[in-house]
Amino acid sequence: MMFKTHRIFIILFCLVVYLNPYNLFNWISLPNLFSFEFLIFILIAIFASMVPDIDNPSSKLGKNVKIFGYVFKHRGFFHSLPALLLFSWIFSNFVNNTYAAAFALGYFSHLLLDNLTHQGIYWLYPFKFRVKGIVKSNGWFEKILFYVCLLLILILLLLLI
Ligand SMILES: [Zn+2]
Repeated sequence: MMFKTHRIFIILFCLVVYLNPYNLFNWISLPNLFSFEFLIFILIAIFASMVPDIDNPSSKLGKNVKIFGYVFKHRGFFHSLPALLLFSWIFSNFVNNTYAAAFALGYFSHLLLDNLTHQGIYWLYPFKFRVKGIVKSNGWFEKILFYVCLLLILILLLLLI
């Protein structure tokens, strides 16, 4: 999936986490929606949603640190649950639990979206069990998804203001 789709999706995801449907996200103590801390929360989540594609030398993040793309297979380790847990744990050693949760959510949202594509991902890498969907990267579904997320973000913001 494209960077812009991952970005819009994680922004929507953060708003949903903020609304905390069915108390699913009680484990995260979130700051106020219009606080500086929430802005940082979203920025960390957006950053984390870019991290898995570091294994692709032509991605936004990957082109600045090409070494990862040469060493790791695209959609291999970096697109897996072990990577999500490892990097979230490393990240949590530098920041508080709330920001570590933002990182984990951002990373997870990337895996979730890539999971929908034909190419799929290996959630349990190095086990060769691939979960894949039927969506074509940058195809019509992705374009619709982008605008649906944008619309939902606007609606949620209007409701929350
Ligand atoms: Zn990816």
